[in-house]
Amino acid sequence: MKVMTIYAHPADTITNCGGTLARHAEAGDEVVALIITHGGRIHANRYAEEWRKDDPDEAITTAGIDDIAAHKWDELRRAADIIGVHRVIGLDTDDRVASLQEHVVDLVAEQIALERPDVIICDYPLNPVVASNTHTVATTTVLAALGRTGTYLRNLDGRAEFHVKQVFFTSLPVFAADGLSLFGVRNDVFVDITPVVGRKVAAMDCFDSQGYSGLFARKLIESNNGEFGRAAGVNFAEAFYRMRNETHDLLPVTAAAVAEDPLTRHLRYSEVDLRATHP
Ligand SMILES: [Zn+2]
Repeated sequence: MKVMTIYAHPADTITNCGGTLARHAEAGDEVVALIITHGGRIHANRYAEEWRKDDPDEAITTAGIDDIAAHKWDELRRAADIIGVHRVIGLDTDDRVASLQEHVVDLVAEQIALERPDVIICDYPLNPVVASNTHTVATTTVLAALGRTGTYLRNLDGRAEFHVKQVFFTSLPVFAADGLSLFGVRNDVFVDITPVVGRKVAAMDCFDSQGYSGLFARKLIESNNGEFGRAAGVNFAEAFYRMRNETHDLLPVTAAAVAEDPLTRHLRYSEVDLRATHP
């Protein structure tokens, strides 16, 4: 299987689904990450913080957008290597984005058509009202691009139509363990990232310039992936919302559901002490 992530900024792929990608890479699947913007203005902590110092480093305070973006790219490359991402593609578009842009839709559609992934992972389009959220724009761009690749015609576009089999959305901030609590709004697929959680920590440690390293990485994984893990019945999980319904021959029951033991669930949930194992 080929998995393609499409996110707005360099760190998004790792924070949202780095563990899942590590597991797919370990299973022999091909993993490709597409980053839409250069992300130079997003969480540029290293550069903003330098100005607050009494004796700021001029090399940092005079860094231009190319320097900042290159530094971020280097952080992502190191993180992607740790996770096992086979290829990282940057479209290097401006990250001052407030709306869908036709030329970016074309760029993303072209990459989907070239890569031909089985599944795509991207952000949940979080703000349908405040549509200018960059991550929402990134996903509406992906959805528009999917429509475009689906209607490619050799006569007109020089390439055939292409259909992606499933889209998984991340970042829906909902931790319900069932389909009733929130009237059906929920993440409906969880991936157990416990076996690879140390690699996610190490990958997040790479994003030093935006303050994602060290204690932040551990706290985020303990809390966010820990709470998704609680919903999933494992130590740490990443959560997904499927775009398309699934069709089965018979009613599906997962191996995790078969193995579930409510009496020992709390023990499984607390097996890994993240700060002790990954200080
Ligand atoms: Zn982002």
